[in-house]
Amino acid sequence: MDYQALLERIHGELASRLGEGQVASYIPELARVAPDRFGIALRTPDGGLYTVGDAEEKFSVQSISKLFTLTLAMRLVGDELWARCGREPSGTSFNSLVQLESEGGIPRNPFINAGALVVSDLILSRLDDAKASVLEFVRELAGSDDIHFDEAVAASEAAHGHRNAAMAHFMKSFGNLENPADRVLDAYFHHCSLSMSCVQVANAGLFLANGGLHPTTGEAVVSVNQKKYLNSMMVTCGTYDAVGEFAYRVGLPAKSGVGGGIVATMPRTFSVCVWSPGLDKQGNSVLGALALERLTTYSAQSIF
Ligand code: GLN
Repeated sequence: MDYQALLERIHGELASRLGEGQVASYIPELARVAPDRFGIALRTPDGGLYTVGDAEEKFSVQSISKLFTLTLAMRLVGDELWARCGREPSGTSFNSLVQLESEGGIPRNPFINAGALVVSDLILSRLDDAKASVLEFVRELAGSDDIHFDEAVAASEAAHGHRNAAMAHFMKSFGNLENPADRVLDAYFHHCSLSMSCVQVANAGLFLANGGLHPTTGEAVVSVNQKKYLNSMMVTCGTYDAVGEFAYRVGLPAKSGVGGGIVATMPRTFSVCVWSPGLDKQGNSVLGALALERLTTYSAQSIF
């Protein structure tokens, strides 16, 4: 498969649609990003790297971090997590509070904000310097030390994150947070603020297309079964309340973030990250979803 030609074709076809969608502004610092950015990086387990557009430019990964923190939490506590968090799509927006009350403070899944707050709490309870450990873990996955938290983005979200704060305190009232709500929020906002390029994110997701093994060291990042769980969770919960539409159009396990990035995996074949900051109303990148749809259509490669 000539992935380079494929990416160039897709990038060329979508060039006239640059700037479509709305850049997230509810975190003011995110609104500063130029809306016409568009990059794709595709990695294959044998070391192939194919890029087009702004694939090396850093962007705010936001909810893509939920994939990395869930992976770390699975390594730390395994199935214990599921006593405190569900595995069903929510059908509501990623920052919705409505289900939490009737469901006793147990979030539907780890890829909505409430679930990621529980995951952040678990990590805080198990590791001494949890923020540094998350950063270290993501750097190892990506094979790059040039990955950092963006303190301005984290502070911007902390200053405006009233819904997340409400969620954290609400779950605390149900006994589903072990640590003080403010510590959990600080950790979560930092995870979301990770600044990475498409190349780095595609690298970091490659273990999911490589039997759970780190592509360079060959060590198990997670067990084969946990790799299955993570990919399944991405299919059913990775793109918020647009997950059915996304599965229909794209047909790959994927995780998106409101920074405009989407990471997707084709098992045993590739890991791909697309970034374009304009979002649809569910919070997924408009051009990102279109690019992935064309990638699976033109290559005839999808999990279905
Ligand atoms: N930090 C963002 C928030 O909590 C992440 C949301 C997202 O990317 N969907 O609202």
